[in-house]
Amino acid sequence: MNVVFTAGSATDVGRVRQGNEDALYAGRRLWVVADGMGGHAAGEVASEVAVTRMAGLDDPDSTASAQPAAPVDPDALVDAILAAHDAILERSADDPGTEGMATTLTGVTLGVDEGQERLLVFNVGDSRTYRLTADRLVQVTVDHSEVQSLVDEGVLTPEEARIHPLRNLVSQCLGSRIVPRPDVFVLNPHPGDRYLICSDGLNGEVEDADLAAVLREHPEPQAAADALVAAALEAGGHDNVTVIVLNLDAAAE
Ligand code: MG
Repeated sequence: MNVVFTAGSATDVGRVRQGNEDALYAGRRLWVVADGMGGHAAGEVASEVAVTRMAGLDDPDSTASAQPAAPVDPDALVDAILAAHDAILERSADDPGTEGMATTLTGVTLGVDEGQERLLVFNVGDSRTYRLTADRLVQVTVDHSEVQSLVDEGVLTPEEARIHPLRNLVSQCLGSRIVPRPDVFVLNPHPGDRYLICSDGLNGEVEDADLAAVLREHPEPQAAADALVAAALEAGGHDNVTVIVLNLDAAAE
């Protein structure tokens, strides 16, 4: 691997909500954001269970270990996401106060596909992963949401979807009675690229062009993550906001 990964992350309850139901994990080769839903703070439990289960894919001790765990392929990644879904259902069954809790999930992991080292970008629900290349910011994930379906059908424009009253209605999540169908996107780990992983508390407040501008203004990932959260708060902070910025750089010789 000739790419070095550096991540920065930030989360904030926002200006309106009482609790922060988002969760994040930023590890060595796995970076995840989850946005929990459910009454009585159950959303907090759902997002935490999801992130903790996913973190099992990472390998914090790989430098100390002669044999690091094998990187995941897209099928193994989907299995891990479905295991996180099952873990939320089990927890709901054990703890009546949390029934109906659910969460979105999105992120990036270093994995393999057809024998090649790749970045695997994944999502369930409407939390997003973007890729910033030298010339543009592209949303890699496609929201699993009711308004995205209306955009796909040509009923709404993306701009109308951003402010639509039903924009928070997800069509897939972890913890629902319907088994989710996670999306996995396979990309090349390209030095110079940056990834933005976020809950809708960011992209619901700040337009994509402004996300790109803030990222370019802050080359260092932690500074970028802090500035993005600050931008969401300044725009109103109506929701919990969570951000991971991941920089890919060429490894030194
Ligand atoms: Mg949210």
